[in-house]
Amino acid sequence: MKPLLAVRDLTTEFAMPGGLVARAVDGVSLDLYPGETLALVGESGSGKTTLALSLLRLIPEPPGRIDPAGRVELDGADILRWDAKALRRVRGGDLAMIFQEPGSSLNPVMTVGSQITETVRAHGQPDRRAARRRALELLADVGISDPDRRLGQYPHQLSGGMQQRVMIAMALAGNPKVLIADEPTTALDVTIQLQILDLLSDLQRRLGLAVLLITHDLGLAARVADRVAVMYAGRIAESAPAARLFDHPQHPYTEALLHAVPRIDRDVARLPVVPGQPPLATQWPTGCRFHPRCRHAWERCRGAEPSLLGTDQEHLARCWLVDEPARRAP
Ligand code: SF4
Repeated sequence: MKPLLAVRDLTTEFAMPGGLVARAVDGVSLDLYPGETLALVGESGSGKTTLALSLLRLIPEPPGRIDPAGRVELDGADILRWDAKALRRVRGGDLAMIFQEPGSSLNPVMTVGSQITETVRAHGQPDRRAARRRALELLADVGISDPDRRLGQYPHQLSGGMQQRVMIAMALAGNPKVLIADEPTTALDVTIQLQILDLLSDLQRRLGLAVLLITHDLGLAARVADRVAVMYAGRIAESAPAARLFDHPQHPYTEALLHAVPRIDRDVARLPVVPGQPPLATQWPTGCRFHPRCRHAWERCRGAEPSLLGTDQEHLARCWLVDEPARRAP
């Protein structure tokens, strides 16, 4: 099967004070296939959100810059080469995005109805009545009861979970093929988080959407992802089908993240965390970027950075242990 979204060697950097350059995303490649959910997981500062914004070319330039040597192909066409008009068409059209804070993404002085109908009209439905009918359908699609009444309400009259449902309805207005969801549940309480994730899974199945879920929470990824890519220090550290990654993680960073996920069957006084601090994007460590925090590190790790290694293309890890498993510390 051909990927719907194929990212190749994507690099995004920012000019910083003092002549420094922060290379937040550094040579990332990944594929998203029709109808699948790929979770992109990592701590904050790993480059996940910069990657997502780069896919839609929402990086402010300057100080940001997407290296033109990379490619972001949607259905075979490279978005990085598109002009402003084509970009406007694809954003919110084939490629839609929802963000962490629905409250700050919605316009506080416009009713929910005006915001959704405007979005529907911007995507090719000029007739007001038809746009309103479509808005009602979209609200029902995302599980909002009494949509007629909701259309007349303002964002502050809705709960956080309801606001996120409205954002998802607006994202669906352009009939996207790909939905990028950047920490869509972080601002919500746990029960609502699960409801929103279940909604995303349901929409993905019903509409055949491909979903790129960006999250720092491996527990959430485990619930919905078909495949998982773990990001560390601007690079993909490991990628695999979800079950393989959770059952047999290869990269010590993935292992450490999994250890830090709370589990009901583990009685611990204090939750383990990944030791050490994530490095700064202006100063990625030489050699393996994880080596200052890795309990398995040896000379080779400090001297050279591994590429993505694996015995098959489905499960890859950027770690010398794939080459030398006997080095794994007990
Ligand atoms: Fe740890 Fe070495 Fe693997 Fe890096 S390459 S993750 S330092 S074992």
